Amino acid sequence: MKGYQTEQKRMLLTFLEQHRAHPLTIEEIVCGLAGEHAPGKSTVYRLMNQLVEDGVVRRFVRGNSRHFVYQLMQETCHKHLHCRCVACGTLYHLDEETSRSMGQLLQQSGFALDGQQTTLLGTCRGCGGR
Ligand SMILES: [Zn+2]
Ligand SMILES: [Zn+2]
Repeated sequence: MKGYQTEQKRMLLTFLEQHRAHPLTIEEIVCGLAGEHAPGKSTVYRLMNQLVEDGVVRRFVRGNSRHFVYQLMQETCHKHLHCRCVACGTLYHLDEETSRSMGQLLQQSGFALDGQQTTLLGTCRGCGGR
């Protein structure tokens, strides 16, 4: 049973890896995984919750909808801050230099930024941001 679960988790991670640039809903993940040994919706839910807890996947709300979307994090994600476009949902990884300066700026105001919990919201260039 355990080996079977590992296999499903591996499938899930491979799929998320292929869609790294796009946050996906549980439904989209389930559809995308369709196949003989594909995990069902409740299994995907459970596995995704595990991955979120493990810090492998990030969960947030898409745009103004009430749909949760999931996106795979990178190994270096703890070193930089993230921006998310509220229009298209794309997650941008800021470079370490910019992330550090932002942290320092806030520190001067006596505030310690939690980079792990923080995602800056805005609009990307492609969606009309500047
Ligand atoms: Zn990142
Ligand atoms: Zn955008």
